[in-house]
Order: sequence, then C-alpha cells, then structure tokens
Amino acid sequence: MSDSSLRLVWVYPDLLSTYGDQGNVLVVERRARQRGLEVSRVDVRSDQPVPTSGDIYLIGGGEDRPQRLAAERLRRDGGLSRAVANGAIVFSVCAGYQILGHEFVNDLGEKEPGLGLLDVVSTRGEAARCVGDVLADIDGRLNLPPLTGFENHQGVTHLGPTARPFARVRFGNGNGTGDGTEGAYNDTVFGTYMHGPVLARNPQIADLLLKLALDVNALPPTDDRWYEALRQERIAAATQPA
Ligand code: GLN
Repeated sequence: MSDSSLRLVWVYPDLLSTYGDQGNVLVVERRARQRGLEVSRVDVRSDQPVPTSGDIYLIGGGEDRPQRLAAERLRRDGGLSRAVANGAIVFSVCAGYQILGHEFVNDLGEKEPGLGLLDVVSTRGEAARCVGDVLADIDGRLNLPPLTGFENHQGVTHLGPTARPFARVRFGNGNGTGDGTEGAYNDTVFGTYMHGPVLARNPQIADLLLKLALDVNALPPTDDRWYEALRQERIAAATQPA
C-alpha cells in the first residue's frame, strides 16, 4: 500500500455504473473497515484524472455509448494503466471488463481500442443478448465458493493466452463464446460479466481483492449471514428459472 490507509478508487461513476455496480465499492469499503483498516475512497468522474496511487480500482458496466466515451478518456488519461504498472488491483464488470481488454466493438459498430490490461478481445455477439442469473465455478486456484451474478450484455469476450478464465458457468452464458468460461483474470486485474452487485453476492471476492492489496493470506472473519441469505436466494433463481 502507498500509505497507511487503503485507497479505493471508483472509476467513472458518471459513465460506468449500471445495475447497482456501485455496490461493489461499498462492499469492499465496508469489509475493509470491518477488519479495522483505514480506508480512503475516491470517486473519479470522467472529467477528472485517474489517480495512480490507488490500491484497488473498481469499474462498473455501462451502456454502449458511455462505454466508448469511457474507453477514450481512460486511454487519453493513462492513469489506470500507470496504476496497474505500479501493482494496483483492478476489479471490472461488463463494459468495464471489455474496456480493460485489447479491443471491443463500440456503439458505432467499430473496433474500439481498450487499455490492454487484460489479454481479452470482445466482439458483438450474433445471438440473442445474454440476460439472466448466472451460477459458475470460480477457478480452483482462487479457492472461492461458487460465483452468483446477473448478466446483461451483447458483447462476447475471447481470452488470449495470458488471461485465465475467472470461472466456468453451470447456468448462464458468461463470456458468451460457447466455451463455458466467465470473466478473465491475471495476477492483479479481474474482469467479469457479473452484476448483482457481484461483490454483494460474493463477498469472498471482495476479500480476495483486499488480501491481494494488503499482501496477506487471511483476514479476520466477518458475520456473513445476510450475504449468505442473498447468495442462496440468487443461486436458487439461477438454477430454478421461473
Ligand atoms: N455494452 C456492453 C455490452 O452490451 C456492456 C453492457 C453492460 O455493461 N451491461 O456488451
């Protein structure tokens, strides 16, 4: 960490914050405070520079046009890429996930460069939009319980050799390539199609981000009964569709 407090950065809430994705930063913030950590949170609007000294960056989903604007500004700004070069942790959702890749198809039907922080390329899916509750198994190396989330995207994401699939779907689409993968990650950068907010449904992922940022193997336990009730309700919704 850069100083004594944990620095959270919520990137472009004015452009990228659909389906309650702001909840992700609230969950990380709360779980850090519950562990007695001092936390400072910076919400960076798209007309402001992205600070390079953050510890954990969160980016949400967005509609197609705001997604293009966000990609343009993040490329021009360069702060997020510098933060990752400094070792920051990034957790991104849907449009944010696509922007972190090498390229995606924008609202004008053109290929838009991303930041290249994840080895993925996104195209526009030919099939119906992927919408609904998802249940997936997170990569065993991360040692996390099953992933529950909600997806709503047209984009399809292909993984390159240096991106690992974040999860494999049991119900739902995820990356939408037909190979069963959902999301992608490398050592410090994570991307997922899951909304929910996904960290409210999967607080263990928020703890993983904290552990990576703090460089510790474990955190003190928390009372997760409310989270667990939400998880069970949403897992039932994914596995027993109406
Ligand atoms: N615009 C992107 C897509 O449709 C991302 C959508 C989202 O963030 N919900 O694929």
